[in-house]
Amino acid sequence: MTAIDASYDLAVIGGGPAGVATVLAARARQPHWRLLWCRGPEPVGRGFLPAYGGNSLVHRLNVPVERMGLDAEAPVDFFDWLRSEHPGREVVPGQFVPRRWFGEYLEARVQASDSATCFGAVRTLRKHDDVWRIDLGDGGAEGHAAAAKTARRVALCLGMPAGLPMAHAPTHWIADPWAWWRALPAQGVPVGDAETVLVVGSGLTAVDMVLGLRERGFRGRIRVVSPGGRWSQAHAPAAPLAPDVREALDDALDEAATARQVLGVLREFAARHPWRAVIDALRADTNARWAGLAPDEQRRVLRHAFGVWNRHRHRMAPDVCAALDADAALSLESGRIGVDGEGRILKRDRFGETVLDVALALDCRGPGFRAALAGDSLLARLVRDGVLEAHPLGTGVRTPADPSLTVIGAARFGERFETSAVPELRQQAVEVVRRWVVSGR
Ligand SMILES: Cc1cc2nc3c(=O)[nH]c(=O)nc-3n(C[C@H](O)[C@H](O)[C@H](O)COP(=O)(O)OP(=O)(O)OC[C@H]3O[C@@H](n4cnc5c(N)ncnc54)[C@H](O)[C@@H]3O)c2cc1C
Repeated sequence: MTAIDASYDLAVIGGGPAGVATVLAARARQPHWRLLWCRGPEPVGRGFLPAYGGNSLVHRLNVPVERMGLDAEAPVDFFDWLRSEHPGREVVPGQFVPRRWFGEYLEARVQASDSATCFGAVRTLRKHDDVWRIDLGDGGAEGHAAAAKTARRVALCLGMPAGLPMAHAPTHWIADPWAWWRALPAQGVPVGDAETVLVVGSGLTAVDMVLGLRERGFRGRIRVVSPGGRWSQAHAPAAPLAPDVREALDDALDEAATARQVLGVLREFAARHPWRAVIDALRADTNARWAGLAPDEQRRVLRHAFGVWNRHRHRMAPDVCAALDADAALSLESGRIGVDGEGRILKRDRFGETVLDVALALDCRGPGFRAALAGDSLLARLVRDGVLEAHPLGTGVRTPADPSLTVIGAARFGERFETSAVPELRQQAVEVVRRWVVSGR
């Protein structure tokens, strides 16, 4: 790493995989650029939070190892790195390896990136005379010298927004399960086997929490409650659709103008062909198909089909599914969890409302796309300041009109549908750097 300089060709804001991929894409294509990388408020050495900084090997990737590389032109880069740096791990294609290993890979790539790096939260961003001024509210840099930096271009890689907090939550309600997890002592959990843990939500973070509690020896009851009451599906080998089937699927989807029609086509094809192959066939076109839907239809997808889509699209490693199925003290229930004005945790389902007596409640309801522009995040402030424009769905921002500013990752949700997993992040990173190189701006 080099020392902070006065002015940069590109400032990358955000220290997650999107930030790393953008720094690497710029370094590879414009080696002479002066790069500033604002890695965010996480303390140095805490790894890549929330997804890849964990301390447990049971938390696994949901993408096969050979597809997780940071370089869009060499997606097997992570696999190659594991094979050369850690041959003893004996990784093979198709494996769903621990996410911690991916964090190690990110750190290794960062070490080679040669960018000026600063930590701390960027407070705001303004443009004067073709130069972006980046305000690092808390000093931010290596040392605490200048609290503002300037750059010609800025890439915002800010990750998933935080979920909305639960009003009146009691003290045993854990709003940030990853922060809680990391703060646990080296062994054990702060609940006894006679007690019950509630996990709110049944997505991948919920699965991680269940696996982590069991790994640490908790044998008590775990109740997982979500509106759908279902886990994500498991990965399984599925040969790609035959070309004629793929063509028929594309034609049928071209004709589908409403959310209901799109779902109908998918159901019809999934009934006649392996459903995993049908979902996977869509991936490259998902964003274009999403953009082809009218705004009201997009809202319908989010309201009625987002959960079912996520369960089929973001699949789990098969042995993770098997471990959940085999766990007799684990229940998965459908219902909605709330907290009343007295701090009691309530479950509402088709039978009515019950008060839950649990020792711990882990809030795993997910990233809260609808909260993307609420609160005091940098993204929300930039929208309020007029630097960025909110997407009409309220789930993220539009592509900035100013070509010297770009947004990568989850903050684009709305304009894009697939925009948060590593394969999409690395693609966006390369595209924007190419655009800057071609336009010369
Ligand atoms: C539990 C979990 C498991 C996942 N597993 C997978 C998987 O197996 N495969 C896959 O492809 N995807 C997975 N994902 C999805 C995705 O890859 C990750 O969410 C990934 O971390 C997203 O990268 P990102 O860089 O966009 O965001 P993040 O990793 O969230 O990084 C955002 C960065 O922005 C910084 N930041 C925020 N605000 C500011 C500010 N004001 N100033 C400066 N910096 C700021 C943050 O500090 C952070 O460094 C998973 C997600 C989660 C939550």
